Amino acid sequence: YGDTHQFAFRQIASQVASVIEKSRLYGQLIEHNRTLSKKNRRLHVAATHDALTGILNRRAIEAALERVFVQHREGAHTFGVIMADIDHFKTINDTHGHAAGDLVLKEFVRRLAAGTRRTDTLGRYGGEEFLIVVEEPTAEQLLAAAERLRSSVSAAPFDVGGKGIAVTASFGAAHSGSAIPSWAELVRQADSALYRAKEAGRDRCVL
Ligand code: GH3
Ligand code: MG
Ligand code: MG
Repeated sequence: YGDTHQFAFRQIASQVASVIEKSRLYGQLIEHNRTLSKKNRRLHVAATHDALTGILNRRAIEAALERVFVQHREGAHTFGVIMADIDHFKTINDTHGHAAGDLVLKEFVRRLAAGTRRTDTLGRYGGEEFLIVVEEPTAEQLLAAAERLRSSVSAAPFDVGGKGIAVTASFGAAHSGSAIPSWAELVRQADSALYRAKEAGRDRCVL
């Protein structure tokens, strides 16, 4: 080839090389983005879920309460909050060990989840305290929901490593009525109903 040909071919080769390099970088960028979104999704799940039980953590259940409260304020939808607390859980830990206590917590959550509806939201509020947000119930339906959950816990002993442990829990429920100043107020009312359930002998529901 003469110089002119070589010059033209080199020009073409360099342009083709640049296109190939760009598409390779573009491919890397897409792959990088895919990895980042996967990591983001995993981070989001970790930030909103409880590591032991897999349900929503306190921050996420409070965000759910806020959403339901806004709907309540804007459209007068009623909602209810049920607070559940395992009875004498410290004794379960002390008697069977902390690992068994963890398994009890998991089974407790499994039963709560099995007893709630798709529109209910379940979250871990504290150590052995759980919240269930119920959308648009009547006060009677809310109490019936709590009662259903309570009996699903006490109905049969928990199987913990082949050992049957009898578990009960107390439930406090609060209904928004037609207007409630804040979701925090409803949680406070559920908490004081729970306190009364404990005072009255545990393994019961108070509205
Ligand atoms: P009450 O019937 O009044 O609710 O009594 P209680 O013993 O259930 O309540 P208390 O608040 O005295 O004890 C709660 C216990 O829950 C103490 C704490 O060590 C335990 N706990 C909290 N989080 C966890 C956890 O993630 N795993 C285990 N195994 N225990 C936990
Ligand atoms: Mg307790
Ligand atoms: Mg407690």
